[in-house]
Amino acid sequence: MGNLLLIVEDEENLRRMLCEHFKAEGFQVIQAQDGKEAVKLWRQNKPDLIILDIMLPVMSGIEVLRSIRKEDEVPVIMLTAKAEEVDKLLGLEMGADDYVTKPFSPRELTARVNAVLRRSNQTDCKHILVLGSLRIDIIRFEAYIDDQLLPLTPTEFKILLLLMENPGMVFTRLQILERIYGDIYEGYERTIDTHINNLRRKMENYPERGFEIKTVYGVGYKIVEKDVGHN
Ligand code: CA
Repeated sequence: MGNLLLIVEDEENLRRMLCEHFKAEGFQVIQAQDGKEAVKLWRQNKPDLIILDIMLPVMSGIEVLRSIRKEDEVPVIMLTAKAEEVDKLLGLEMGADDYVTKPFSPRELTARVNAVLRRSNQTDCKHILVLGSLRIDIIRFEAYIDDQLLPLTPTEFKILLLLMENPGMVFTRLQILERIYGDIYEGYERTIDTHINNLRRKMENYPERGFEIKTVYGVGYKIVEKDVGHN
């Protein structure tokens, strides 16, 4: 499914043209013709990006941006008329991601939309680590295989996270222990084996997972990518 755009513009012809254009480009589109409606639709639909005209009835684009920014980092591209230079600068200081001055070509706006979406996706992905079908969300403290949440204990999660930060690198049991318990030495190296075995058991249901935790005899453990279908 394409990204969801919220287009906020009171000039009906322009709004219609933009909606048609972005639908043809593969986006899903919702539209508002005044600021109040824009805030309402943003709340209800959580769009991926908002195209926001500055001069709007009821509530200006600046006011809309201000209320959205109190709660949400959603990318916003402002539309400005030439007479609105001051507002344009203000809009940027308030956290608009880009602006386009009227008149503009739909192609130019599409390029800006795609650039801003790319940027925002990159920031979103910084806290996600991926190997094969394994995905770890560092912020949420969750691990998924094939989009299914793995029921891990906090200790298992920490071990998996450590291995995933450096795929292919071997970690000794002592290094893993230090990572789990910090400076204070609270565990025995061999308890790591139990945690690793539990981790492996929880992953057994996913034979096509595309990665494995390998034992490096005499040293420790590492996580590696594995071609599905080979060994
Ligand atoms: Ca306007």
